[in-house]
Amino acid sequence: MSPPTPFVPALVIVDLQNDFCPPNGALPVPSGRDVIAPINKLLQLPFVLKIATLDWHPPNHISFADNHPPGNAPFTSETIIPHPENPDRIYKTTLWPVHCVQNTPGAELVSELDQSLLDGVVKKGQDPRVEMYSAFTDPFHEGQQPWDPESNSVCTSDLARTLKEKGVTDVYVVGLAMDYCVKSTAIHAVKYGYRTWVVKEGTKAVAGDDGNRDSTREMEEEGVKIVGLESDEVAWVQGSAQGADVILRCPW
Ligand SMILES: [Zn+2]
Repeated sequence: MSPPTPFVPALVIVDLQNDFCPPNGALPVPSGRDVIAPINKLLQLPFVLKIATLDWHPPNHISFADNHPPGNAPFTSETIIPHPENPDRIYKTTLWPVHCVQNTPGAELVSELDQSLLDGVVKKGQDPRVEMYSAFTDPFHEGQQPWDPESNSVCTSDLARTLKEKGVTDVYVVGLAMDYCVKSTAIHAVKYGYRTWVVKEGTKAVAGDDGNRDSTREMEEEGVKIVGLESDEVAWVQGSAQGADVILRCPW
């Protein structure tokens, strides 16, 4: 199967940070370290853009159970988060242990990741008032019509602008955790108009097999395609560089 044309692929590595990895992370994803080798393989491919995202919270972030009244427990308690300027708009979210606090070792990318091959880093979750699973934008735009995150969200990153500047057509998403930040980022990539692929060897769910199954279903319902490292869709990326070489070798 040959790639669609045009085909301009980008790789987005979501939150591959110490705090999301066993054995010492504050919010470890089971088998989270298993994604590192497949992701390093993907980094060898000629994506036009290779971006890592960072969960990057201030200590008073709203997602930390410790910042809520006693009785709130990480993983099991949920909270309602109101829009800072429009409290009629809300969303419900799970509370977490303190994790990925800005400028701490837990917030650093895992050392085994081949960071020399990255083109850039996108930070998210810096606003203490707002949870931000997706590397594009927070959830406050959800349910609003038309779909317009730029005007309906409180926090947006520069990821959408960066992809657009490079003329990207296809976004390959990997990282942690599959059932939260990878899922939200991939679904938003579809909504921004990209063909979107999640490479299954490059992601793990914090809720284990259940999280894998449920997030796979949710992503597929939204138009994300789940593919393997050995799939045609990943092979297209290697082929895209050969195509570029042909053009470069035809200077007349
Ligand atoms: Zn977080």
